[in-house]
Amino acid sequence: SLKCGIVGLPNVGKSSLFNALSNAGAESANFPFCTIDPNVGIVPVPDERLDRIAGLVQPKNVTPTSIEFVDIAGLVKGASEGKGKGNAFLSHIREVDLIIHVVRCFEDDDVTHVEGGIDPVRDIGIIESELLFKDLETLERREERMKKMAKSGDKTIQNHVHILGNLRQHIEKGNPVRSWKDWDPSHPALQELFMLTAKKVLYLCNVDEADLPDGAGNEHVMKVKEHAASEGTDALAVCAKIEAEIAELNDQEKAEFLASLNLRESGLNRLISAAYRKLGLITFFTAGPKEVRAWTVPEGTKAPQAAGVIHSDFERGFIRAETIAYHDFISYGSESAAREAGKMRSEGRGYTVKDGDVLLFRFNV
Ligand code: GDP
Repeated sequence: SLKCGIVGLPNVGKSSLFNALSNAGAESANFPFCTIDPNVGIVPVPDERLDRIAGLVQPKNVTPTSIEFVDIAGLVKGASEGKGKGNAFLSHIREVDLIIHVVRCFEDDDVTHVEGGIDPVRDIGIIESELLFKDLETLERREERMKKMAKSGDKTIQNHVHILGNLRQHIEKGNPVRSWKDWDPSHPALQELFMLTAKKVLYLCNVDEADLPDGAGNEHVMKVKEHAASEGTDALAVCAKIEAEIAELNDQEKAEFLASLNLRESGLNRLISAAYRKLGLITFFTAGPKEVRAWTVPEGTKAPQAAGVIHSDFERGFIRAETIAYHDFISYGSESAAREAGKMRSEGRGYTVKDGDVLLFRFNV
């Protein structure tokens, strides 16, 4: 499943948020996952469409797709030099698809700020510097090795050294790898470099309840939003305290509570939507009497690879995908009615799966 790492300075509300998110997962009935690790939480991705399809099909089981949150503690000023918990964060960040960078935008005299006062853009800079420092170290090690190898006169290796040098100059100016125009992790010179600052980032501003829903009245949030925009990404405002309360409620109470706060959706749901958008992910469905289920794939995925997400045999033996668009499925009310109306298309290997497609795979075993 999609893996998101939560980072941020100490005392910004990471654990509070992480606990609220994990709790939201634990609360949902019939969810086939449990907590594997105190720092890992798996949360079902809420999707109205899944509920509507399930309402029509009435299957034995309904299985949402899921998203994994990892609480990555230990990033403090100097972490890259071994301060705090040292480098434990490195391997964790390497494994995630998306970094969720939490910054403190709430005032509270009882909660100490490790850097003195509230300044989320400065805080972002501190974390980013630690990651950049690590990337530089990793890069220099490879560059050294390649330089030695290049002495043999191998033109390809010399070109690799040149590419690594360009990336190093980019990082030395304080720029994250993700903003380097030539970044391509599949290029032989760059593969398996595992650059931390190559990961996509979403900023999460932890605000007071009064600043919900979008933090528009909070100058700190506005600055983070500007910063995010300058990097081509987004910043969301959430209130960790409120999320913790929402996570304790059942669906009906949740709806009432959100309405009383003038919120359309919980922070968790907004975060999940933003993560899907950021990573270009879409959802398709399978719908049978045993199970109605949601699956996540990157936009642009072809039918055989979508089948492979369910089972590698489905991809290997792929013949075709019987496809009903979500809206057709809902308006005709069932697979058979949609088929009779000519709304079930038989799609081949070249078909690009669309968000909301209800798919039935035909395959050879
Ligand atoms: P972490 O070190 O980043 O994991 O931060 P914690 O989640 O442990 O939070 C640090 C402190 O800030 C705790 O005392 C929390 O109760 C408090 N805190 C977290 N979120 C909020 C918030 O939205 N508003 C206020 N006033 N306090 C918060």
